[in-house]
Amino acid sequence: MHLRRTIQWMYRKIHLSNPKANIIKPIETPCAPAAPGKNTSIVMAHLPSSIERPVFIVSAPRSGSTMLFETLAKSAALWTIGDESHQLIEGLPQLSVGPSGVESNRLTEANADPITAQQIRVRFAQRLINRDGAARWGRATGAVRMLEKTPKNSLRIPFIRAVFPDALFVYLYRDPRENLSSIMEAWKAGGWITYPQLADWDGPWSLLLPPGYQTVRGRPLAEIAAFQWNSANEHILNDLAVLPANRWIAVGYDQLTEDTAEQVRRICNFIDVPVDAHLNKVVNGKLPLSRYTLTPPTKDKWRINGQAIEAALPLVLPVYRRVLETALPPDRAAEILNALSGVSPSVARNEPCPCGSTKRYKYCHGALA
Ligand SMILES: [Zn+2]
Repeated sequence: MHLRRTIQWMYRKIHLSNPKANIIKPIETPCAPAAPGKNTSIVMAHLPSSIERPVFIVSAPRSGSTMLFETLAKSAALWTIGDESHQLIEGLPQLSVGPSGVESNRLTEANADPITAQQIRVRFAQRLINRDGAARWGRATGAVRMLEKTPKNSLRIPFIRAVFPDALFVYLYRDPRENLSSIMEAWKAGGWITYPQLADWDGPWSLLLPPGYQTVRGRPLAEIAAFQWNSANEHILNDLAVLPANRWIAVGYDQLTEDTAEQVRRICNFIDVPVDAHLNKVVNGKLPLSRYTLTPPTKDKWRINGQAIEAALPLVLPVYRRVLETALPPDRAAEILNALSGVSPSVARNEPCPCGSTKRYKYCHGALA
């Protein structure tokens, strides 16, 4: 006990005298407990490597970020925590949603006091695994690159920057019609519940929780989805706009699925990670569906929710315009915006169902509607 306190004191000395020191506090919740009777050498063995230039994929929920994450995680140069970081962040009482924590998933530098920031760095470092699933904590030293993706992080960019000042961001955006439909399907499926009970809300909440969620209480599902889509994309646009251009890159879901090899090369080039043989093999095939796929994506699958989305589209168009004008040359952005009005949202009863089943609409999602 005395030893542990001494080390914590040493840590504080180092940390306070040099706030930039990327030295990580030994053992907070160690993966492997120190053997009884052993001393300093065991503790020192748990000193993790530091994380340098971590890469955060930021996007609205259901916009293909898991697919991108699982693809890039095939790189030998990138370490991950294996999944999303919900509990890693919200497991800290000061960052959890509730009366004694925070109101929503929005976190800024104000939430990143030195102790919290260090706790987050330790929690990530402790869970790092490579593409083969091998853990790093306590086994190696030196700095590593980390890849992370959790849609809630779209609301946390200022917080992430305070915790990891050299972080890089890959912004993934998706056509709001497809994205809203996928968000709606996730709400309906019930497998994406993040908050079973929430202040000023009726029933469970699914996916990321933006600030001001109370304003859509009692509204139709498409409007709630539009609110989540807007909030994620607007926060990303605003928070990345203050960063130098070499700290972030924007990638469209369509670009990624249509021209995977080129887009992955572009991203790897930007994050300064080689496209090794393993990754090259993956991107030259068809991208595998992510583990969170409900049903395979098709281009007009959103039309299963066509009328609701058509009604909600004016709510998201101003932000989508901003997204496209930020990410693409003006003529390409205009082309995509013009094409939006060319697709009818309604489905004829005898048409094949847009969900991709081979059934007629009237026997598939049309019957459900
Ligand atoms: Zn269907």
